[in-house]
This record gives sequence, structure tokens and C-alpha cells, in this order.
Amino acid sequence: MKLATKLIHAGAEPDPSTGAIMTPIYQTSTYVQEAPGVNKGYEYARSQNPTRKALEDAYAIIENGKYALAFSSGVAATDSVIKLLNPGDEVIAANDMYGGSYRLFTKVWERYNIKFIYVDTTNPENVKAAVTANTKLIWVETPTNPLMNITDIEAMAAIAKQAGAWLCVDNTFASPYLQNPLDLGADIVMHSATKYLGGHSDVIQGCLMMNDKELREKLYFIQKSCGAVPGPQDCFLVLRGIKTLGVRMKAHCENGEKIAHWLRNHAKVAKVYWPGFEDNTGYAIAKKQMHGFGGMISFELKNDSEAEVKRVLSSTHFFSLAESLGGVESLINHPASMTHASIPREERIKNGLSDGLIRLSVGIEDADDLIEDLDKAIG
Ligand SMILES: *Cc1c(COP(=O)(O)O)cnc(C)c1O
Repeated sequence: MKLATKLIHAGAEPDPSTGAIMTPIYQTSTYVQEAPGVNKGYEYARSQNPTRKALEDAYAIIENGKYALAFSSGVAATDSVIKLLNPGDEVIAANDMYGGSYRLFTKVWERYNIKFIYVDTTNPENVKAAVTANTKLIWVETPTNPLMNITDIEAMAAIAKQAGAWLCVDNTFASPYLQNPLDLGADIVMHSATKYLGGHSDVIQGCLMMNDKELREKLYFIQKSCGAVPGPQDCFLVLRGIKTLGVRMKAHCENGEKIAHWLRNHAKVAKVYWPGFEDNTGYAIAKKQMHGFGGMISFELKNDSEAEVKRVLSSTHFFSLAESLGGVESLINHPASMTHASIPREERIKNGLSDGLIRLSVGIEDADDLIEDLDKAIG
């Protein structure tokens, strides 16, 4: 089955009790049992819920995985992966990643004696060099947020395999439409479903996809024991969002390409970060492992004074100034003060994330209107 068809039909069985074509929102906490221990596969809604099950089935199918689990947020999904580890274990993590993952790792999990080693994962040699006998997990994001750096997933999978560690890829920026890390050897794929999977900026949710049954059982145990599960209404919204992921991503890609090239030719723009430029260092790998380049773009102005950057950020009309990404509406964001403020300034600068960087989540409005909007704001 081709992806466009999968996106519409994945996980969607007519409801067994009524035939409803859309899986109903099963707003219930418990299920009545016929006799002690005799039930229909549902006992208590932290462990199982039919709306969540439909969504988890869909999640697995669209990432070409065997299993998937839904969580109450992307960070809850990330947190559950770290809970696979024991004190003393080491994680090799990308030095350029979502600020909230960095905060979770450094401020929460380091207190439990899990060690995180941050390296530039765009060069596999750096990752190889950081492997020790205690390495249990490699955590990468590609393209990265917000610098759009590309890491070779197959190379990471080979290093993880040799190290006897799991590879988890945060695939939020690409979405399953543009990249499928399980096909490239990753053990776990993580998404913030808040972004492209939900797609309408109306829900917070996360998910994990995997192929290994034992790993699924471990993560399911964590899901039900720690309880960071999404409610059925949120599951319904993501199920609905997934149906249009294909048409939305196509539009995000088309608009992203137009705007990235337009920005690059703008006299007041110094640098544009977008995975689809042929002269990028990571282009060959992006082309190999992605099916398109998406609608996430960052850029720097030639005049990157605080005042000018703030002026541009406050001057757009269709691009709303907000954190988050992946919705149908365009957003503009200032990573240094917003999404990535939890990363210490010197760390940020060292990794190339400047104070003046502006990040766009290009929506699916008409590209001409978006370009006109940016043109007026940049001046
Ligand atoms: C938003 C985001 C997360 C966190 O997800 P939440 O749903 O906000 O908890 C993780 N990784 C990336 C790349 C993100 O953009």
C-alpha cells in the first residue's frame, strides 16, 4: 500500500458496535467485566483505550513499524525512552536538538545518574569516538531544530548496533511523510505529534514507533506504569490529522521550497538554513534518506541587531509569532528567546545557534501571500 492510502486507512476500522466510520471518542475510565478477569481486552483506560488503540495502530503503519505507543506529549514519549535506562548508563545525544529534550536530559535525568554526551552527530566519527562500554542509547534528530543539520541515520544505526545500544530518532521535523527511520535501521522513532501529525495546532501529544516486540513490551510497561497517556479526544484529533498528512506535507514542501529560495535571494538576508539546498554539506544524505525537504526554514539577517530582529519578528501578519511548528498556519519564532531559551547562551552559540536566528514554520497558505508578508516585514 502506498503512503497516501495508508494515511487515510491506517488504524481505521469501522467501530464494531455501530459501524461508525470514524473511531468514536471512548470517553471512559473503565470497562465493565462479564466475570472477574473476563473482559473484551479492555480493563482500565490508562492501560487500554479503543480510540488510543486505533491511533497507535495508525502510528505503527505510517512509520512502517510493527508497534507504536501514544503519549501525552512529545517530551513524555522522550522521557519514556530514557526510562529504559539504568543509573550509570550513557546516552550519546546530538548537540543540536529540541531545547525541551536537552532540558529533560540535563535538568531531570542527569540527577538520576544517566550520563549524556553531546556530540555533533553530522559526523559519524564523533559518535563512534564517544561510544563506551556504558553506551545504551544514541539519540538523534534530523533535520535538527532549528539549524536543519542532517545526520546519516543508516550510519548511526550501524554504530548503535556495534555498540549494543538503541538508536532513537526524533523524526518530528520530517514527519513520516518525508522520512522513515525504522527503514534505515533505527530501533525507535519518536514524534511530537503536536506538530505535523496533529497538524492543526490544537493538541499536545507524542508517540514512539518500533519493530522489536521486547522493546515494545518494555515501553508499554513504562507507558502504563508511569501513566503519561493521551486522552481519547486528543487521540481522535491526531487520527483525524493523520488523514491529511499527505496533502499537507506536499503543500508544506512546495511552499518551503519557494520561500527558502526567495529568502536566499533577498538582499537583506545573510544566511538561510533549509535541507533542500544542493550546496548544503548534508544535502547528499538528506536526498538519500528523505523524500522531500519540508517547510521548516531558519534564516539570519545581515543586520542582526537585537532591535532589527525583534522588529522583523513583530512585523509579519500571516506568520504568527509563536513557539511550535507543523500546523497548517505559518509561524515565526525566535529560538534564542523562545523555543531554545533553556539552552545556555554559550552552548547555543558554540553550536551555531545565533541570537539573531529566525525560524519559520511555513504553513499551507498561498506561497505568494506568505512571501509578500515576509517581504513587507524584512523591508
Ligand atoms: C515539540 C518538539 C518536541 C516536544 O514535543 P511536545 O509535544 O511539545 O512535548 C520534541 N522534539 C521536537 C523536534 C519538537 O519540535
